[in-house]
Formats: sequence, C-alpha cells, structure tokens
Amino acid sequence: MKQLQTALRHCNICPRNCNVNRINGQTGFCHASLHPKVALVSAHFWEEPPISGTKGSGTIFFSHCNLRCVFCQNHKISEEGFGTEISIERLAEIFLEQQEKGLHNINLVSPTHYIPQISIALRLAKKSGLQIPVIYNSNGYESIEGLRQLEGLVDIYLPDFKYWDKTIAKEYSAAPNYPAIAAQAILEMKRQVPQDIFDENAIMTNGLILRHLVLPSHYQDSYHILDWIKESLGVDTYVSLLSQYTPMHRANTIKTLSRRLTTFEYQKVTEYFLNIGLKNGFMQKRNSATSEYTPMFNLEGVE
Ligand code: SF4
Repeated sequence: MKQLQTALRHCNICPRNCNVNRINGQTGFCHASLHPKVALVSAHFWEEPPISGTKGSGTIFFSHCNLRCVFCQNHKISEEGFGTEISIERLAEIFLEQQEKGLHNINLVSPTHYIPQISIALRLAKKSGLQIPVIYNSNGYESIEGLRQLEGLVDIYLPDFKYWDKTIAKEYSAAPNYPAIAAQAILEMKRQVPQDIFDENAIMTNGLILRHLVLPSHYQDSYHILDWIKESLGVDTYVSLLSQYTPMHRANTIKTLSRRLTTFEYQKVTEYFLNIGLKNGFMQKRNSATSEYTPMFNLEGVE
C-alpha cells in the first residue's frame, strides 16, 4: 500500500503528468480518484478469436480515461465516468470470479489510470490462485514507468496504436505527443512479452496484439503505422485492423469523422498490410455493427 500512496500522491502514472494528489481527492485529466471505478464485469465474445475463444474473455471495464477521444464509443464510462468505486480487495475478488466462470482470461479494459491499484489487486489474486492469462487492453497512451509496474503481472498486451499524425492526435485526443508515446510504450510492452504463445485451442496465453482502428478520411495515416510495425516489431506481429468506426460522441461535430469508413478506405489499408509483407492480421467484416461492440454498461458483476 505504500507503493500506492507514493504513486498517487503525485500522480504521474500516465504521460499527462498531472502531478495531482489523488489520495486527498484531487483529480487530473482522467478524473479518476483513489479507488478503482468499474462499470461492467462481463464475458466478452467480440474480441479477436485468440482472446475471446469459445468461452469468452473476462472483461473488466474501468471508468474514466486518460485519452478521451472525440469519437469514443464507450464515452458513457470514459468521459461521463459511469461506474462504481470498489476496493482493491474487491477488484482482486472480481479477477478470481472471472476465473471461476471458466473464462479464458482477465481482460483489463482502459486500465492505465489505475495501474497502481491493479498491480496490487493482481498480486493479491495471484496469491489466492489466479492462473488464467491477464490482458492489458489499453489506448496505448502509457508511460514506461507505469508499464514497468506491470512487468511479470501481465501476460498479453492489447494496445491501440491510434494515430501517426500528431495533428490529428491533438485534434481528436488532445494528445499531440500520442504517436511518439504510443510507439515507445508498445516497444516496452514487446520487451516484457517478447513471444507470442498460443495453447492447443489457439487461445493466446502470452504476447502482443496491436489494434488499429482505421478512421474515415485518414486511411493514409494507417500506412505509416503499418510501416512502423513492420520496421520496429517485425512482419510476424499480430495486428488487428478494425473497421467498426461509427461517428459517436462528439464525432458528428467534426467533418472528417462524421461518417462511417468506406469499403474503399478499409480495403486500401488491408491491401497495404499485405503488400508490405505483414503476415498476421485480424480483419473485420465491413458490415460489423458498432452496437455489437459497445457493451451495455450496467454495473453487472461489480459489487
Ligand atoms: S493517471 Fe490521470 S491523474 Fe494521473 S497523470 Fe494520468 S491523467 Fe493525470
């Protein structure tokens, strides 16, 4: 718990570096306080096949966010902060309950601003028998110091790499340094879990899957990200190219984001993926309905 006090007394857990005292009730950019806040504990069947498998992924959706993109499909929890605050001990119990349900893994969704609390809860749960893989499912806007607190506790990293162009990173996520930060964070994740390992049922047990949501009007930005993946991580990297973009939240007020992705745009990116020699891609059907991917946040399983 001393580790928690130290981390949150001057919160610089993520690259926002707010330096606020979350122990005494101050909040920073993310609006997260001292206690972990959770909006939903569920079995999720819409992740990539090696993550959801047949039994589902044990998602835990954390409230608040350190990026708060203008098009966020989970804005009810990320921006509006829907959820219930729980203790670290309860969070550890939730991990064990997800395991008891027979789910393939623990899937921590938008966990960045709760890294210190999560690392304590994971240690508690592991002492009490947590054995299934732990997935860190984040927006990629991470500090190296924050990620190092998770070393040895996380088995699979599932980060986004959202933008290459810092102008759109600034406009859509108020984070012009996102491209450089995400690139360094993903390299740190790869250092921690260098090998992609699957069990006999093709369920991932260790490794990295990098996600990229192709945005309308910006498919050429995706090329730069794919080039970086090839050069920095190698052609065998598992990459999930998402086509599910639908204008939500504040996206309708921004001309470039106010429509869905076209088949042409998505095809250009998937063709580029193959043309540069990347080998391991997960592609989405173009008619993927966003409603299927947006969970009903109702506090199920939280208390
Ligand atoms: S975790 Fe939240 S309070 Fe801490 S630095 Fe990041 S945005 Fe600021």
